[in-house]
Amino acid sequence: MNRVYLDYNATTPVEPEVLDAMLPYFSGEFGNASSIHTFGQKARAAVETAREHVAALIGARPQDIFFTSGGTESDNHAIFGIVSSSVATSASSTGKPHVITTFVEHEAVLNACQALEKQGVDVTYLHVDQDGLIDLEDLQAALRKETTLITIMHANNELGTVQPLEEVGRIAKEADVYFHTDAVQSGGKIPIDVNQLHLDLLSLSGHKLYAPKGIGALYVRGTRLKQLLYGGHHQRGMRPGTENVAGIVGFGKAAEIARHALANDAKRLSALRDQLEHGLLHRVPQSRINGGRAPRTPNTANLVFPGVEGEALLIALDLKGLACSTGAACSSGAVEPSHVLTAIGLPAEEARASLRFSLGRHTTQADIDFALRVVPAAVAQLRQLSPTYREVARTT
Ligand code: PLP
Repeated sequence: MNRVYLDYNATTPVEPEVLDAMLPYFSGEFGNASSIHTFGQKARAAVETAREHVAALIGARPQDIFFTSGGTESDNHAIFGIVSSSVATSASSTGKPHVITTFVEHEAVLNACQALEKQGVDVTYLHVDQDGLIDLEDLQAALRKETTLITIMHANNELGTVQPLEEVGRIAKEADVYFHTDAVQSGGKIPIDVNQLHLDLLSLSGHKLYAPKGIGALYVRGTRLKQLLYGGHHQRGMRPGTENVAGIVGFGKAAEIARHALANDAKRLSALRDQLEHGLLHRVPQSRINGGRAPRTPNTANLVFPGVEGEALLIALDLKGLACSTGAACSSGAVEPSHVLTAIGLPAEEARASLRFSLGRHTTQADIDFALRVVPAAVAQLRQLSPTYREVARTT
């Protein structure tokens, strides 16, 4: 059976070149990067080369990159690390620390913020407009003298919406507040320059950019975060634990490839994505794009197909060989509609009737043609079975 994968925001395949770069570090070059003998030094050199490549992808200095187990750990470390440091220093004497974030963050940020609230930290969640963008005036208004951290994602995983980080960074800098972004969905897809965006902290994840799962990075500029883990002196004690050398090497290779491929990938993918969107809008009556007017990552399309149940459509498409998503992969299976789609103002039934198609480096014209054949047919079939859709049709 022909299987087409349009779920690259959930995860990406490891590139053959990335795998080739990693393979020696599982057996032949298996040294511990902390050992001083030759085995160890070869591993250390490979880790440092990878750190340079990851740093180059975001315009950072290599010494500001710390390897982690992925996006979730990086987000948690940034958020708890900054807030714990501020509790240990000034904010404890002036009152509760305060954090600003948004309603459309990934659960790695949202649930970390909710945990902080249980510990007595105040958190402001900014609303977004119907395209998923925050309002900078809301951000200004939310600032307080106790604000210690602004954490606002770069690109949204469900919509692809890109937040105005340069302006956010300027506001954070003026207010002398730490600024973190979850760049898990933008890394390798759109250019990132931590200096231009005035970022203090940034999270990346390997498996979203053709490296393996279980490896990520946290960029930290000029501040000593409170560590989450206690152990040896690895990564200057900030993130102890024997380094995952093969994973780090793979992440470095993937970052190097992404930096060179980014412009071409973006051009090719946005053309294919636009074709998919226009084709679906044309072929599926009453379908609409979610978040389509905001600046977006080039690979992401999210559409609502009124009258169908997203989960049923996802399964019907999977049976035909097309893989896509009803939202964040981590929340698939949950009955609640996507918090991102409800935050942009979709009623629950429209949020449940939405699907995300995310394209990637291996997506072809034939894949898009296939999607344009199977999606309209599957929607039409489900609508025939749906009493609610007939009602929609009758009333319009
Ligand atoms: N942040 C965003 C925006 C994501 O899309 C994801 C994964 O889907 C994560 C964080 C979590 O990253 P990881 O899977 O590496 O823990």
